Amino acid sequence: MRVLIADDDALSRKILEESLSHWGYEPVITKDGDEAWDMLKEDGGPTLVVLDWVMPGMEGIEICQKVRARRTANYIYIILLSAKNSNEDVIKGLESGADDYISKPFHPEELKSRLKIGQRIIELEKRIMCLASTDYLTALLNRRAFMERMEAEINRVTRENKSFGIVIADLDHFKLVNDTYGHQAGDLVLQEFSRCLSSSFRIYDFIGRYGGEEFIVGLPGASSEVAGAIAERVRKRLEQHRTLVPDCDLEISVTASFGITSMENGRPQLSMDGLIKQADSALYMAKQLGRNRVEIFKSYGY
Ligand SMILES: [Mg+2]
Repeated sequence: MRVLIADDDALSRKILEESLSHWGYEPVITKDGDEAWDMLKEDGGPTLVVLDWVMPGMEGIEICQKVRARRTANYIYIILLSAKNSNEDVIKGLESGADDYISKPFHPEELKSRLKIGQRIIELEKRIMCLASTDYLTALLNRRAFMERMEAEINRVTRENKSFGIVIADLDHFKLVNDTYGHQAGDLVLQEFSRCLSSSFRIYDFIGRYGGEEFIVGLPGASSEVAGAIAERVRKRLEQHRTLVPDCDLEISVTASFGITSMENGRPQLSMDGLIKQADSALYMAKQLGRNRVEIFKSYGY
């Protein structure tokens, strides 16, 4: 795990660097507050931080305040290190947003234990985030997580004039599966369709469960043609696939309909809702035209 160290004292930096390496961490060294803040501003920077309080430029507590004022994807756990060790100082440090406080000169074993606490909190947060963004049945992204990811992607492709494809897939007559074979069989069908989607799309595509039997895929960089070709492959695979229901010797076969749309080279500049509406109306058309088919949105007709 990477740990950001910020300390203006060369000896202290050297001790921290050597100790952390020895304990299996990957220290990232900065010499003052401004340098540390530059690293913490970046998405994907270290999430465990050991900050000296008194440094030239930005001080440790100012960095704590700035980190807490900013909404980051991952929690940043900060251990404040300082020769200031009165009760008032400790309180001031913690109030500024630090998670922990160690007085200098520090005892190496104490720092080691406190780093472990930080690591535990960070890992716990990651696990909670993962649970909160995953659909329980299919292990795909849940709707909220999908929408968040899509919003970020749409902003990016609009800025960079790139393409972005969307596929909405809906199992045909799925209610009939549940009514005929029961919900457990229905769940199996949903899980197998999810696996089929996951193994058919490209690794940088992201897939979410949009509703009951409705799924949505975001394809960064893809035109409608590319998205449609992949959807057609999924459609054929599903058509030939049989879901085996254990214990009752059942083989269920289902089909799906697909609606496609895209933003190509940043055009048309649509909001996320606008794009989803287009894909939805293409899906509607696929259903109207007899189901088990892929339809690409056209601005005329429907
Ligand atoms: Mg200092």
